[in-house]
Amino acid sequence: MRIAVIGTGYVGLVTAACLAQAGHEVLAIDRDAMRVQMLHDGQVPFYEPGLAGLVQQGVGQGRLRFETAMAAVSMAQLAFICVGTPPRPDGAADMHQLFDAARELAAWMAPDCLVVQKSTAPIGTADRVAAAVQDGLAQRGLAREQQRVRVAANPEFLREGTAVRDFGEPDRVVIGVEHVDDARLLRELYRPFVSQATQLLVMDRRSAELAKYGANSMLAARVALINELARIAQATGADIEQVRAVLGSDPRIGPQFLAAGCGYGGSCFPKDVQALGVLADCLGVDVPMLHAINGSNELHKRHLVERLSQALGGLAGRTVAIWGLSFKPETDDLREAPSRTVIDLVVERGACVQAFDPAAMQAAARVWADVPQVRLCESPMHAARDADALVLLTEWAHFREPDFAALARSLRGHLVLDGRNLWRAAQVQAAGLRYLGVGRPGSE
Ligand code: NAD
Repeated sequence: MRIAVIGTGYVGLVTAACLAQAGHEVLAIDRDAMRVQMLHDGQVPFYEPGLAGLVQQGVGQGRLRFETAMAAVSMAQLAFICVGTPPRPDGAADMHQLFDAARELAAWMAPDCLVVQKSTAPIGTADRVAAAVQDGLAQRGLAREQQRVRVAANPEFLREGTAVRDFGEPDRVVIGVEHVDDARLLRELYRPFVSQATQLLVMDRRSAELAKYGANSMLAARVALINELARIAQATGADIEQVRAVLGSDPRIGPQFLAAGCGYGGSCFPKDVQALGVLADCLGVDVPMLHAINGSNELHKRHLVERLSQALGGLAGRTVAIWGLSFKPETDDLREAPSRTVIDLVVERGACVQAFDPAAMQAAARVWADVPQVRLCESPMHAARDADALVLLTEWAHFREPDFAALARSLRGHLVLDGRNLWRAAQVQAAGLRYLGVGRPGSE
């Protein structure tokens, strides 16, 4: 098929590269000219394992092209909208990128092109996209019978860090449509990616849109709740890792995504939970649980800093080493990462930070460019040098088996705060260091 993908961020570029690999002719459009130039030059503008090779392969085989101009979409039978839907100051989803893309598409696309909304967007957005496309086609003077507007909602569930694999082997594909023909076309498109283990769920557009917000809200709530249990464990001497084993063995709960840590972040959970809460408020629907999720997560990040401060007898004048800045391993994405809150609070309380991340150093240099108290270091041991404490914030594989004896020599103080429960207390303590985990005994 001839496919256009609007937006070359994490979702758009992965979608474009995977569809090109499946044999389709893909045109990826982004209004960021610098990004398009990088992609022309064979560089991927962010870190995502396996993506650069796939992009280069698609370009080399002539199946993947990049453009800034929307005019080229006239060739497409299918156009995916994968632009950002970031939070507005009031927490609602900012729909500018999405409606700009819909209007620009309508100005150039073939009238029977199927527009596929992949961006996460409030319930009812696909209806509004359809109206915007209808207006755009009418403005082009197309006769009414030529204007059978086709819009599908096909939310994306890929995860940064495993995005290529998630797209290629999805747990489920959700297709929200108005017309059965549109579902048929999308079923056909996803056939190479769908195995026996994949559920392909066809439904109305509004249900598809709510399903995406619902999934993120459930996952965020799960993280917030296990962290609340970890704080209770800490206060009572229980071990959250034992508790987690019990909870995970109940098939109604399941073991996945049940780790206590330093809170969730990223470009999706915080914004989607908030956007759904704002939407519910606008509809007059009471959603006290939904409103509590992000607050609990924020409180947990603050609690971590409080604990660090207490263990050090205050943060003023201290140096804190941070290992891991990205919101999760295998990505360089710092959007809403726990490191942002933790570092800002630590600096606010008068400490200096020495930080290292295996992939996010460039992104970090932009985020903390104007904060002289934050020094980015070339290796984990450089970050630890002469610091009063080490805080682990992202469970990168790089940090799994550090040389604790060397760490003990590098640090000035003796404190290790393991924000991801990555290490065993005994292992750290054997090097003469003091260990604090999240909700674990033997960690004070
Ligand atoms: P992103 O911010 O990384 O990328 C968006 C891209 O769209 C940018 O490159 C931007 O320049 C481009 N763009 C914006 N408006 C445009 C326009 N009118 N024409 C052409 N290009 C335009 O976004 P992302 O992280 O890929 O997320 C995209 C959507 O997918 C969001 O709604 C997000 O919530 C959702 N989503 C994201 C993930 C994830 O892990 N990042 C997972 C599932 C769903």
